[in-house]
Amino acid sequence: MTPQPPPDASSAASRVLSVERRIDDACRRSGRARDSVTLVAVSKTRTADEVLPILHTGLCHLGENRPEEAAEKIPLVDEYAAQGGLPAPIWHMIGHVQSRKTTLVVGPYALVHSLDSLHLGQRLSRLAVASGCTLDCLVQVNVSGEESKSGYVVSDPAGELPPPFLSDLSSLLALPGIRLRGLMTIPPAGDDPEDARPYFRRLRLLRERLAGVYPAGDWRELSMGMTDDFEVAIEEGATLVRVGRAIFGPRTA
Ligand SMILES: *Cc1c(COP(=O)(O)O)cnc(C)c1O
Repeated sequence: MTPQPPPDASSAASRVLSVERRIDDACRRSGRARDSVTLVAVSKTRTADEVLPILHTGLCHLGENRPEEAAEKIPLVDEYAAQGGLPAPIWHMIGHVQSRKTTLVVGPYALVHSLDSLHLGQRLSRLAVASGCTLDCLVQVNVSGEESKSGYVVSDPAGELPPPFLSDLSSLLALPGIRLRGLMTIPPAGDDPEDARPYFRRLRLLRERLAGVYPAGDWRELSMGMTDDFEVAIEEGATLVRVGRAIFGPRTA
């Protein structure tokens, strides 16, 4: 049995294609190869039925922010893709992970964008080792210093890096079962996409600093840019953009 695309496939597909075109243009403007940027469709708050149509565009990276909410959706979407011969979904955890939710994260997710404490890293490490897998993680950094944001606060990546941050990074790099691959940030909300550029620059600069401090580490990924600013993020070096509303429409929840 081959599942048919749900009826609204064309509009979801057309929004994905328009985001893809904008990514192409941003790559061209900044002299980057298109395959240096991965589009993660942020499917948080959307039902499995809303997510399925976009799989027909070939997009397979999906981002969730609540492990519990996603736990029901993931098997449905995976099963649909398998039955239809579509590329297997690759799940990204982009939201803050509470310690007691870590069991829901190790296994289904290919990449955790939101590693924001040594304690979380230790929990993920233990679970990953116990299940015999390696979990890729990005360290979430708060480059604006806004109190409402999770992540390690590093608001001046050109200055002295905070010793507690460096000491956690050393410990995280040494943990078995998890593998650091780079950094993630969420800039302050602004009215203009250009407002985010200085924060994206800070994350890129921080990556350069860390590559110097920990040359054995792997700092290749920069997860930054959402619906309102993903093109600016690409110009500033994003390798992963997390786009929700531009693909699925406004969120009501
Ligand atoms: C919701 C969310 C996104 C997507 O935001 P849009 O504005 O819908 O593109 C990206 N990253 C994180 C961490 C999110 O929570």
